[in-house]
Order: sequence, then structure tokens, then C-alpha cells
Amino acid sequence: MTITPLMPVYPRSPVRPVRGEGVYLYGEQGEKYLDFASGIAVNALGHAHPVLTKAIQDQAATLMHVSNLYGSPQGEALAQRLVDATFADTVFFTNSGAEAVECAIKTARRYHYAKGNPEKYSLITFSNAFHGRTLGAISATDQPKMRDGFEPLLPGFTVVEFNDLEAARGAIDAHCAGFLVEPIQGEGGVRMASEEFLHGLRTLADEHDLMLVLDEVQCGMARTGKLFAYEHYGVEPDIMSIAKGIGGGFPLGACLATEKAAAGMTFGTHGSTYGGNPLAMAAGQAVLDVVNNDAFLAQVGRMGERLRAALEQMIPNHDHLFESVRGLGLMIGIKMKSDSRAFVAHLRDHGVLTVAAAENVMRILPPLIIEEEHIAEFVEKLSSAARAYQAPDTSD
Ligand code: PLP
Repeated sequence: MTITPLMPVYPRSPVRPVRGEGVYLYGEQGEKYLDFASGIAVNALGHAHPVLTKAIQDQAATLMHVSNLYGSPQGEALAQRLVDATFADTVFFTNSGAEAVECAIKTARRYHYAKGNPEKYSLITFSNAFHGRTLGAISATDQPKMRDGFEPLLPGFTVVEFNDLEAARGAIDAHCAGFLVEPIQGEGGVRMASEEFLHGLRTLADEHDLMLVLDEVQCGMARTGKLFAYEHYGVEPDIMSIAKGIGGGFPLGACLATEKAAAGMTFGTHGSTYGGNPLAMAAGQAVLDVVNNDAFLAQVGRMGERLRAALEQMIPNHDHLFESVRGLGLMIGIKMKSDSRAFVAHLRDHGVLTVAAAENVMRILPPLIIEEEHIAEFVEKLSSAARAYQAPDTSD
């Protein structure tokens, strides 16, 4: 038998973390890594944060799981906090981002069904988008590497060019239920929606009675220096999927919706055995306790600016390698002139973890608790790794 016990769907790197503390991860042999990947924007509070750890420990010893057949004081409390902090009136808790996206797609479809328009089931989505790996979520992207071999996919998605408002307008037809879009594409290469584009989608949605569904699984939860990225744009969605940072490392996601958008989500229409379990709710509360205040959000914004300024200053010294810096807050991408995957692997050998993304972008997603000293360490190690780097020869 050659297959590994862990299904071999990930090209796993040699890094094998067994412990984490703050912004550092430690491997099996004690190797130390500066973790500017955060489990792909998950460990918002870094590793082993005392507030999150204690909340999980206390809740685990009190009540871990009960069925959603019973009342949920824990779920009600966290949902209320999310409602108070956002555009939303109601929340469905999930265990992952893809499930949050699934709930968002179902909510958008049911809105039209409940209004007597079941033919309006189709969502307009955007090039290079990533919404997760369920059949519904891969049907919403145009990326062959995620779709090939899994057909037939879910009908009801039309993919048009990201940031192209006219293309989105042109794709609206009698079946259109709304738009599904990441305000800042993560896997797609830290590409920001333009203000004009997001405002334009909101206007189109209002004009045609469509749902604007935002996927903030990666860019939400304080990563950009505001609790949610849509706040930077002054555009409110009807439905939003979130996950990753909201649990700080504990599996937790949510689908948020306005009362109007959730009109079809009545008894029996959706569910999850684990969604909203008391342990996940305790993790979500602890993360919100730390991040949802002006001082923390302002600090994320400040650290984002410092990091970006330091990178912009450094880049011209390595202009054979780096092209430009993009992103918002602590969701930063460096556009590279050669394969970003190869450079991410090289940087790993210098004790720093980052993540590759599409378009040869290296994603820099540090824990939101970083301080100036971590930025200095990162930039120093990045510079020395860049000096030592020989880009692989890709010429034929
Ligand atoms: N949506 C976006 C924007 C994401 O970045 C991701 C994961 O990277 C997902 C959805 C899927 O989340 P999960 O892997 O938790 O299912």
C-alpha cells in the first residue's frame, strides 16, 4: 500500500508543529518559527492565548455539546453580540467557513423561494474566488484545480470577472438570486474589491431585489483593522459568511443575515449537529472579548500600516524578487516576480511562516496580537532570506 493514513490531498511541508506560544510555533525537534501565517488567518490571538485557552478549558469542564433540539443560552448570547456588532439581525452557527458559505447560498435561494420566486436561484460569483471545498462552494468558483473530477457540480452559479461591475450587471437574468463576493480575495491573491465595485453591487442588488452575500471568512473578524472588511467600504450586505478568526483556532463559523434576507430560513430548513455547541460559543465569546473594542482594532490598523510601510521600504532592495505590496490591515500580500510557493518554502527554512496565494502572491497573515518587535524580526528575516534566494530556473 502506498497511500498514507492521512488522505494525501495536501502537499504538506516539512514543518511539523507540536506547540505554539504567542506568535511562535515549535516543531517536533524544538525548531522555532515566527508564525506570520496564523493557520491561514485563523489564530487571531496567536497560540495558547490565556483568555481563549481558559474559556475553552472552563467550558469543556462545564458543558461541551448539547443538541440544537434544546435551548441555547450560549448560542443566543454570542448571536446577540454579533447582531449588535454588525448589519445582521440573525445568526446561524457552523463549524467551518465552507458550511457558513453553504448556509449563505441556501439563505439567498430561500429568500426568493419564500417570496414566490423559486426560479431565482442563481448567484453571480467572481473570477479567482475561493469559498471552500464543499460541492456548493466549489461550484461557486472558476478554478479548475478545485472543480475537475467532481462534476456534476451544483447548477446556479455564473462566474464573471472580479471588480468588473459591467460584467456583473450584464450577468443578471431572470434566475439571478444575488451576488456572492469576497470584499478582499484571500486565496485569489489578496485582491481588494474596489469601492466602486462593491457599491455598484449593492446598488444593483437594491435595484433588482437581489441578495448581496459577502464572504468574510478570511478578511473578517478584525483582520483588516475593523471588525469586518465591509465597514471600510460603507457597504452593508444582506448575508455574510464568517469563520476562521472568529474561533481563534477552535472550529467555528457563522452565517449572518438581515431579517429580510432570512425570511425563508424557517423551522426545519437548515441544521447542524455541532453548529453552535457551547464549547465553540465559549471560544467565540473569548475572541470577541479581546478583539471587539476600539483600542484593539486601532492597534491592528497601526501594526498593519507599520508592516506595510516596512515592506514597501524593503522591496526596492530586492526588486528582482518583489513587485508590490497590497492588502489592508494585517491581511497583506507581496506580489512576487517569480513563483511565490518556492519563496514561501525558502522563507520557512529561515524560520518564518507565510502562505502562498494565486498570482504569485505571498500572503502575510500574522496573529492580530503582533507588536513592533515581531514586525522588525519578520522584516529582518525576510530581507536576509531574500538576499540568500536563488529563484528556481523556470526557463525551458
Ligand atoms: N471562504 C473564504 C473566503 C476562505 O478563505 C475560506 C478558506 O480559506 C473558506 C471560505 C472555506 O473555509 P473552511 O476551510 O473553513 O471551510
